[in-house]
This record gives sequence, structure tokens and C-alpha cells, in this order.
Amino acid sequence: MKYLKETDINKLNAKSVKKDETFLFECHANLKCFNICCRNLKLFLYPYDVIKLKGALNISSDAFIDKHTDIVIRQDVCFPEVLLKMAENEQKICPFLREKGCSVYDARPYSCRTFPMEQGLAYNEDKKEAETVYFFKPPEFCEGKNENKEWTPETWIKDQEAVLYNKKTILWSQIKSLFYQYPPWTPETSDHPKLKAAFMALYNIDKFREFVFSSTFLKRYKIKPDLKRRIKKDDDALLSLGFAFVKLYLWNVSSKIIK
Ligand code: SF4
Ligand code: SF4
Repeated sequence: MKYLKETDINKLNAKSVKKDETFLFECHANLKCFNICCRNLKLFLYPYDVIKLKGALNISSDAFIDKHTDIVIRQDVCFPEVLLKMAENEQKICPFLREKGCSVYDARPYSCRTFPMEQGLAYNEDKKEAETVYFFKPPEFCEGKNENKEWTPETWIKDQEAVLYNKKTILWSQIKSLFYQYPPWTPETSDHPKLKAAFMALYNIDKFREFVFSSTFLKRYKIKPDLKRRIKKDDDALLSLGFAFVKLYLWNVSSKIIK
């Protein structure tokens, strides 16, 4: 999910789709383009994607980040982007692509689920809040755009079992927008201790669990009791704590989850 300024939206080469507007699309194995879109991608991973993928691969978040991601530092934002590492061959194929399709289909990242619809978060100056915006952006070779099945952004997200992904990604985008609006350090800083702690809480969930239970974290912070019980084993619950912790730690925004 991109964080967009109003001026950026007009520059995007994509059809904007409002919440109640429709687009035509269907993807299936009989199309000539089947699997072509799973290569040479700039595939952004969000915190919930990492939880689902490392679960499907049965590896730790640390091992997943090490083996499957590229961490990219950008000039305009002070938090790194996490991209899925493509194969180092000419076609730069997604490492999870097999002849029959995606080998991690049930845990495929949010961007793959909603493709070729993209989602962004735009700051509305009048309402003084960030709003979700959708774009239909199939590549030229995508034959699915010539099919006749009709979707709204909402029905498409439901069909792709992406409702929970969507909620988690919006939470992540709200944090991302704070990085843009109130940068806690300068963008060129890549080794700030707070950056490392925030990255761990958002993307390296197993390390974050280790930290929560082996440091003075639980003495220093008051955690909502039912969440405190769940975070021992439940990655989703721990990610909710991670989101709330980062807001408190970096911007002093407290919540019902953590004080
Ligand atoms: S994760 Fe699956 S759907 Fe996404 S690009 Fe890779 S193979 Fe394709
Ligand atoms: S290019 Fe479009 S229609 Fe073809 S497999 Fe990818 S998403 Fe489906």
C-alpha cells in the first residue's frame, strides 16, 4: 500500500476506482498470461505478509527476512521498505512460483491477492485524515482485464480472502504515514536504535516475542490483559501489540493496548 499525496494521485498511470465503482476482471489458468505476472516484481511486503509467509514456510521471521527479502532505504521516508527477493536469473521469477502457480497461495502477500487492483492511503487536507484509495492497474500483457466479471474494490478484496490483510495493512499504513509526517530521525539514518526496535516490532515478530519476554518490557509497559495472555503464541496478537508499541515508542501515542 502506497502512501500518497494528493498531487501524486494525478501522476499515477492508473484508473482510480471509488469504493462503489466497478471494474471488470478475471484471472484463471486458461489465460495465456497465466503466471507471467509473478516475475520481475517490485513486491512490497507488509508486516502481516511476513507473519503469514513465514508460517506457511515454517521458518522464523528472522530466517524469512534473511532469505527472502531485500530491505530498501529510500530518500524520502525514514523507515525501510521490505521487498520480496526475486530469483537472481534473467526473468527474476518469484521464488514461490511453480509450474502450476503460486506455491504459497493461501499465504500469498496482500499485493498478490488484490493484484491488479492497488491500494493507497491518501491524506485528505479538508478532513485532516488519511483515506484509502483504490486503483485498477493491470499490466499490458494481463488478459484478465478483458474478461467480464464485475467487482467493486470491496467484493474483490472479499473474493481474494484479503479482508483481514486489508485491515492489518491499513493499520500499517497509518504508521507509515506518521513516518512521513513526523519523522523520528532523518531518512539517511539507517542504524538508529529506535529504528531497529521499530523494525523488529513490525517485521521480525519472533525476535520481538523474544524481546518482550526476556527483557524488562512487561515491567515497563502496561499491556491489555487479554492481549498479554495471547501474545505468547499468537503472532496476530503480537503484531497488534507491535503496531501499538511503535506508535507509543516513537510518537508517544498511547492506546488501550499499551500504556
Ligand atoms: S507470492 Fe505467489 S502470487 Fe505472489 S508473485 Fe509469488 S508466486 Fe505470484
Ligand atoms: S497477468 Fe493478469 S490475468 Fe494473467 S495471471 Fe496475472 S493477474 Fe491473472
